[in-house]
Amino acid sequence: MKINRSASQNALVIGSGVGGLSTAIILAQLGFQTTVIEKNPLPGGLMRGYTRKGLDCAVGVHYLGSLDDGQVLRRLFDFLGVSAGIPVERMGAEGIIDRYIFENFAFNLPDGFDAYEDNLRNAFPEEHRQISVIMKSLRQHGEKIHTLDFLFSRQLDVSMLEHMKPIGDILTDLKCSPGLRAVLGIPCCWIGVPLESCPVFYHNMVLATYLFSSWRLKCSSAQMAKAFTDRLKSLGGKIIQGDGVEKILVNHRVVEGVQLKSGSVLKAPVVIGAVHPKVVLNMLPDGAAKPSYRRLVSKLVDSYGMFCVHLSVEASKHKAIPYNIFKVQTGENGTILDLIYFQLRESERDGKNLLTILTSGEYQRWQKWEHTKTGRRGGDYVREKEDRARHLIREAGDIFGSLQGEKLLDVYTPLTLRDWVNSPGGSAYGVQRSSDQLLEASILNRISVKGLFLAGQSVMAPGIIGTILASLGTVRLVIGAKRFDKMVNHLRIK
Ligand SMILES: Cc1cc2nc3c(=O)[nH]c(=O)nc-3n(C[C@H](O)[C@H](O)[C@H](O)COP(=O)(O)OP(=O)(O)OC[C@H]3O[C@@H](n4cnc5c(N)ncnc54)[C@H](O)[C@@H]3O)c2cc1C
Repeated sequence: MKINRSASQNALVIGSGVGGLSTAIILAQLGFQTTVIEKNPLPGGLMRGYTRKGLDCAVGVHYLGSLDDGQVLRRLFDFLGVSAGIPVERMGAEGIIDRYIFENFAFNLPDGFDAYEDNLRNAFPEEHRQISVIMKSLRQHGEKIHTLDFLFSRQLDVSMLEHMKPIGDILTDLKCSPGLRAVLGIPCCWIGVPLESCPVFYHNMVLATYLFSSWRLKCSSAQMAKAFTDRLKSLGGKIIQGDGVEKILVNHRVVEGVQLKSGSVLKAPVVIGAVHPKVVLNMLPDGAAKPSYRRLVSKLVDSYGMFCVHLSVEASKHKAIPYNIFKVQTGENGTILDLIYFQLRESERDGKNLLTILTSGEYQRWQKWEHTKTGRRGGDYVREKEDRARHLIREAGDIFGSLQGEKLLDVYTPLTLRDWVNSPGGSAYGVQRSSDQLLEASILNRISVKGLFLAGQSVMAPGIIGTILASLGTVRLVIGAKRFDKMVNHLRIK
């Protein structure tokens, strides 16, 4: 892309997760002098994992959807100029991307819409009528996400309101069985919203992106983060690391810049908060945001936090599995009560595989330590973590065979996530995109401070795709719809 340096204008981006870095890259492509400010010593946010005993432990990227040629994430990565730096491998070679294990049956999520429909019809032969309705809307929304039409729309697409109905209500109206509800409930968990209040569009969007094609990184998560930072630097962008933003400077509702923890002041007419909206609010001086906006954001419910265990296992005993496994406990009417995600994959070390176990964080379990800093939470906290980890390792043992003697690499709680990326309550997916607060969550960028914008997973949708789409939406607000449409028109499929 040709860089228009004449449009040179400073922009500061707070946070170097995929949201901050992709926003910064797009602005830099437009000729903005862009600086990203990251509180952590290394950039990448949730996209960057960490290394233990030579094994790369992923945090926020376990698998990605729609990376085949021409598909939506591939187009976005190409547009950002990061594709070459992020090697990936396709999942689903054995016909399975995810295997859901329920108490009394199992279901495989395959590659492709037709295969998915077949699996649904085979698993629920009494529900052909319901499956036809479900598949029609899934294909329709898959098409919407593929074409990216909604990004360019200048008017509210009223038909979208219909697509925001909770999928739980739709399945109730269709009189779906508890089993079918449970299967359809899992994609809602990927974005941290219960089926009962998950807008059907979000459910379908996330499921469709993985049905188009699913991929795992064939590189470390640090390399994925590096692809983004290298690209930004190649466009002249800068990254300040290890010095977070303390205050956003505002004068008469016009943004002027930021003040960092170190005391340095950076001035710019455009500031983008690619962090949780509540964090942005706390950095604003009193009176900068309208009281109604402050009330609205403070009341928003966030998605849950996560608890994670990483184990190094003997590859000879526990072979890598090319798909993900979900062990699911359901209640009445197929409601998901507990879900544990397992990924057993090859590692960087010969003879060792990495087993990752993820489950919801149960914040109240960790709440008593919420005011204590990392490393100072004491023995009780460590014991509580070990207890929870042991329980999950036993659950894993039921699937993969005994894991006794295997090496525990790391355990993290929602407090770890909270402290690592500054997400309130350790929320994994930011503001919950539930039908109950859809309107509130959709006006986060109406902050009414001139020059201040929000980006990141809370703004439009979580996940790598949702967060990059949010970056495009934010840049559209910064530069105006006309210029934006011209710049990214080729992303759209007509
Ligand atoms: C456990 C887990 C598993 C996931 N798995 C997947 C998956 O398999 N596939 C997928 O697509 N998505 C997945 N996601 C979701 C995905 O990782 C996120 O949606 C996405 O990475 C969010 O990016 P972000 O830029 O909005 O936020 P973040 O990555 O949280 O970035 C925010 C950045 O801002 C920094 N920051 C905060 N406060 C300040 C401050 N005051 N000053 C400066 N910097 C600051 C933080 O340190 C952080 O680097 C997962 C998420 C989690 C938690």
